[in-house]
Amino acid sequence: MKADRIGSLSKRAEAIKSPKFGVIAEVRKCIEGLTDVINLGYGEPDFPTPAHIREAAKKAIDEGFTHYILPPEGLNELRNAIAEKVSSKNGLDVDPSTEVMVTAGVQEAINMAMLSIVEPGDEVIVADPYYYSYPLAVIFSDGTPIYIEVRENRDFRLDPDDIEKKVTSKTKAIVLIDPNCPTGSLLTKEDLSAIAEIANRHGLFVVTDEIYEELVYDGAKHHSIASFPGMKERTISAFGFSKSYAMTGWRVGYVVASQSLMKTLKEVYAQLTICVNSISQKAALAALTGSQECVEEMRRKYESRRNLLVAGLNRIGITCKPPQGSFYVYANMSRYNLSSTEFAKLLARDAKVLGYPGTAFSRDKSGEKYIRFSLTTSEEKLKEALERIQSVTDQLSGAKSST
Ligand code: PLP
Repeated sequence: MKADRIGSLSKRAEAIKSPKFGVIAEVRKCIEGLTDVINLGYGEPDFPTPAHIREAAKKAIDEGFTHYILPPEGLNELRNAIAEKVSSKNGLDVDPSTEVMVTAGVQEAINMAMLSIVEPGDEVIVADPYYYSYPLAVIFSDGTPIYIEVRENRDFRLDPDDIEKKVTSKTKAIVLIDPNCPTGSLLTKEDLSAIAEIANRHGLFVVTDEIYEELVYDGAKHHSIASFPGMKERTISAFGFSKSYAMTGWRVGYVVASQSLMKTLKEVYAQLTICVNSISQKAALAALTGSQECVEEMRRKYESRRNLLVAGLNRIGITCKPPQGSFYVYANMSRYNLSSTEFAKLLARDAKVLGYPGTAFSRDKSGEKYIRFSLTTSEEKLKEALERIQSVTDQLSGAKSST
C-alpha cells in the first residue's frame, strides 16, 4: 500500500515557519476579548488611501480595465512614471522598458530577488534585527542568512566594518532595509559609500528595500545605494506604495535593476504572478503622477507622533532616540528586567497597549532589550497609550523598589 502523503509537506515550507508569528501570537493572545486596545503593533498606516488614487481605481474598473497586463512586468505608463521618479528622487537612470518591473508589493520583490540570485549554500548578509521576511526568503532559496547585530550606540545603523568581517567566499549578497524596519535607522551617505565599496570589491549583490524612503525626519535625506559608483549593475532596488501612499491592501510595489539582472527577475516573476492587479497599477500610476502633498502630509503627522511618543517613552524610562526614518520606535525596556515578550504581554494585558517584542525581529537574545511601537495611531491615542504604559511601569518600578 502506498504511504499516505497527508502530513508529508514540503521541508522548504517547514523551514520558513516564522518564529516572529509565534512570539507575536503569544502577545496578541493577551488582547483577545479586550475592548479599547491601542494598537501600536501593526505596520499599517492608519490613513485612508488618498482620494485621487481611489478614484483612478474606480475609473479603471468602470472602463473595464480588468484583464491581464501586457507586458507582464507592468503597464508602460506606470513603468515610465517609475523611471522618472527614480531618476529625479533616487538618482537612478533606468530604461523603463528593460530595467523596471511592477511587483505585488515589496514583499514579492524580496522573494523574487532571493530566488533569482541565491544558489544552495550561498550566504546573504542581513542586519539583526530585521524585517523577518529577509532571512526567510534566503532560507526559502536554499541560502544561509548571515546575521550582523546592529548596535544601539550606532543608532542601529549597519556598520560597514562588521560587514567586511562577515564576507566569505560564499557571500552572495548584502540586504539593506533603509530606512529600517524595525529600528527606524537611516544609513548615512558615508555608510552607504563604504558598503558600496565592499560590495564592489568583493563582487557582491545588494538587495535594498527602500519602502520607507518617503518617511524620513528632521530634514534627513535618504540615499539609494544603486546610485553609487559601480552599484547599478549589482543592486536590486525595491520600492513600494504601501507605506508612502497608505496603499497596503492594493499590493503594488516595484523593482529597478540592471537589464541583465532584470532578465532573470522577469523569468521568476512570470511563474509567480504573471502580472500585478491591473486596477492597482492604475491606482499606483495616479499615486506617482498626482500631487505628492498627501505623502508629505502623512510624513509630517508621523514626525509629530514620533516626537510625542519618543519624549513620552523617555520620560517613563523606556529609552530611545528619535528614529530618523520609517514609522517605528524601537525602544529599550531593559531596566524592567523582563524579557521583551513578557514586557509586551504585560502591556497588552494590563495597559491594553499592543507593541511587538524585539525578539519578533531578531534571533536568540539580541531583541530581548527592546519593544517596537508603531506610529500609525493618532496623537490623542498615543498620549493615552503613554499614560496607560506608565501606570504599568510605575507598578513595576514600585515592585522593584519595595523588594
Ligand atoms: N519591507 C519592509 C521593510 C516592510 O516593513 C514591509 C511591511 O511591513 C514590507 C516590505 C512589505 O511591503 P509591501 O506591502 O509593499 O509588500
